[in-house]
Amino acid sequence: MRWLSIENLTLLGIFLALPLGLWEPEMALHLKIVGQIFLRLLKMVIPLLIFASVFISVATIESWRQLRQIGTKTLAYYLITTALAVSTGLVFVNLWKPGLEAAMSSQVNHIKPFSLERLLSSLIPANPVESLAQGHVLQIITFALLLGLATIGLPATSRKTLINFFEALNSALINLVRGIIWLTPVGVFALVSSIVAEHGLSPFLALGRYALTVISGLLFHGIVTLGLLLWGLGRISPWAYFLRVREALLVAFSTASSSATLPISLEVAQEKARLNPSVAGFVLPLGSTVNMDGTALYEAVAAMFIANVYHIHLGIADQILIFLTATLASIGAAGIPSAGLVTMTLVLQSVGLPLEGIGIILAIDRFLDMLRTAVNVWGDLVGARIISCLTNV
Ligand code: ASP
Repeated sequence: MRWLSIENLTLLGIFLALPLGLWEPEMALHLKIVGQIFLRLLKMVIPLLIFASVFISVATIESWRQLRQIGTKTLAYYLITTALAVSTGLVFVNLWKPGLEAAMSSQVNHIKPFSLERLLSSLIPANPVESLAQGHVLQIITFALLLGLATIGLPATSRKTLINFFEALNSALINLVRGIIWLTPVGVFALVSSIVAEHGLSPFLALGRYALTVISGLLFHGIVTLGLLLWGLGRISPWAYFLRVREALLVAFSTASSSATLPISLEVAQEKARLNPSVAGFVLPLGSTVNMDGTALYEAVAAMFIANVYHIHLGIADQILIFLTATLASIGAAGIPSAGLVTMTLVLQSVGLPLEGIGIILAIDRFLDMLRTAVNVWGDLVGARIISCLTNV
């Protein structure tokens, strides 16, 4: 029975979670533990999987030229799509002007400002074993990249030994992920129903103009912008590609975490989308923390919305600042739930908006987080396909 695929059951899990969370919230809250177990299983494989896949990608690349090619194309893709996402957000927010109508009460909120300096200095691990233990994704990536580069000068046999070892580790981890994927329908059912039980449906339904602006911007970016890029440069029909990778998007939606979704993204990239493993192993882990189109778009819309609520007029110069800081803030956001809320302090501060404004958007953030995370992961998967097509490895 073809329709009984894991992907369809996962979708069904999300739909069934809504009535359960609404009508039997107690039971849904009991199920929370199942969702947490599912999340822990995903998190269990993340540090080693990131390390192994980035290391292999770099170590197996034949020449510096090839590495430079993939590296520059990946960075160019990240930057261009993030810039397009923020621009879309700014265009939509200027058209819809959410917030002007609102007389919302703001709750005071204690969110620590985000600092870019701290982020930059935290890229370099002082102790890679500690980074693995603590799950510092960016530090793990830095170390894996450097160690991969360092194998280039080694005698062929030593290099081969290292690569074989990590390739074997990577395959075993992917096997493990394949087992975990069987649990996704139940896992997302438990996660989504407990979210609905905790927050009610109001955040899903009482969306208002602000949320509609974010949602339509996200849909436009995901479907039109990324769809056209995929079609033009990735040489595949966006719908066909979406069908192949949809399991990763459903998990992204349910977990609101790009990092937790990474094991599934790597698996579908390899098994379903048949992407070049060297490219996917590099583009997806890095993208899961650096390339966040959905977050960038959302940060720009949210900042403009807060300005509207406080009746603070932001002109072109301010909006250019928002463009730049929203891009940085999305790069700085970790791939975990609500990370975008924290880095948004950078955007608000840059144009002198009150940080308490975050309190206004808190209520519906969980739902928007789910959507923007799905767009973040979609952006990474589209990138992996495009860069696979543009490089001959
Ligand atoms: N939750 C998002 C992600 O993991 C980040 C964000 O909060 O925007 O991709």
